[in-house]
Amino acid sequence: MATTSAAPAANPADRPVYVVGGGPGGLAVAHALRARGIRAVVVEKAEVGASWSRHYDRLRLHTTRRTSALPGLKMPRRFGRWAKRDDVVRYLEKYAEVHELEIITGVEVSRIERSADGTGWLLHGTGGRELTGAAVVVATGYNHTPHLPDWPGRETYDGDLAHAAAYRDGTPYAGRDVLVVGVGNTGAEIAVDLVEHGASRVRLAVRTVPHIVRRSTAGWPAQYSGILVRRLPVGLVDRICRVMALTLPDLSAQGLPRPDSGLYTRAREGAIPVQDVGLIDGVRKGRIEVVAAVDAFEEGGKVLLADGTRISPDAVVAATGYVRALEPLVGHLGVLDERGLPLAHGPQSPANAPGLYFTGFTTPISGTLRELGIDAERIAKAVRRQFR
Ligand SMILES: Cc1cc2nc3c(=O)[nH]c(=O)nc-3n(C[C@H](O)[C@H](O)[C@H](O)COP(=O)(O)OP(=O)(O)OC[C@H]3O[C@@H](n4cnc5c(N)ncnc54)[C@H](O)[C@@H]3O)c2cc1C
Repeated sequence: MATTSAAPAANPADRPVYVVGGGPGGLAVAHALRARGIRAVVVEKAEVGASWSRHYDRLRLHTTRRTSALPGLKMPRRFGRWAKRDDVVRYLEKYAEVHELEIITGVEVSRIERSADGTGWLLHGTGGRELTGAAVVVATGYNHTPHLPDWPGRETYDGDLAHAAAYRDGTPYAGRDVLVVGVGNTGAEIAVDLVEHGASRVRLAVRTVPHIVRRSTAGWPAQYSGILVRRLPVGLVDRICRVMALTLPDLSAQGLPRPDSGLYTRAREGAIPVQDVGLIDGVRKGRIEVVAAVDAFEEGGKVLLADGTRISPDAVVAATGYVRALEPLVGHLGVLDERGLPLAHGPQSPANAPGLYFTGFTTPISGTLRELGIDAERIAKAVRRQFR
């Protein structure tokens, strides 16, 4: 999809601001810029909403419809409180259309560097394209590239091993013994989905016990608590959460004791709490068995666990997360930290790269979509200041 617009060009030398990535973060920034009379062009390697259409079928937002809408367009009431994956995709398409965003689809940006005259940014895209912008906003997503740990024996493992990114629903796993590796939101939800689709056995390999929160309690969404406490001291929030966690059943006997580290401390390190959409019930009823972390893969379809146990599941789903993969794009600019995350985020540009912005590379407990909308406005204001 390519949408054209006649946005007024407030940009210096008629250069647009390029926004790399047409997910919610990129679209929100493009709209915020356009609303300020700044021409913005989104460059998207697939199509608008691609990241959401790739997610598994049963996925719903765990943040509310109201607090997940991007600036300038509400999510319709018919989406319900927790919008479905397909509704999110439709919403993003509508967002681009309603705001007449200028979008180039099917072009992947492979490298960003300073323009030859030093006043802007040069983007290298597929098909030899070279695009020069007055500023550039990188919105390529926190969940960019599926990460499969480098387990010993993985390369020669002859069993059925897939990353969760390829998981759609539990149908192909009906009647099979499945090991899910990793207990983030995705791993937890896939384990529940497998049970509901009739897998004969579901085991969940856990390295670090997660914080589990109910999506809502007596009608009060966990996200609202996240919004209220997000600016409080981390230690205080950790203590509040420890008390709140006592309202959840103790799953120590089933292998999921309460974590020692604080919820907010862990969230700041990138491990957002698991929203319960059936995990607690599944573990309590023994339908999901918690086992030790995976240490290695062995011949004959065997998996070696950290406690020395060997198991032979029919299939393994690795819900082991994603990497940002920003290095090829901007690594040479010295703007990433040792974890590959941007040194400056939102309205701040790195000191050595003025006019280069990043959005979507944090894991806020107040809801990423909400924060993407807020950051979009801040980035657009910063760009406007830059153009004065
Ligand atoms: C399973 C799952 C559930 C989630 N649920 C929620 C939720 O309920 N509430 C919430 O607030 N947040 C949620 N999030 C977190 C977050 O809101 C979403 O991941 C959101 O889509 C992030 O938006 P984004 O625009 O930053 O990145 P993405 O949505 O990942 O979009 C990035 C876009 O950039 C494109 N792209 C990437 N690299 C390039 C390149 N080099 N050149 C051109 N284009 C490129 C991609 O194709 C993609 O379209 C969830 C995340 C996941 C993974």
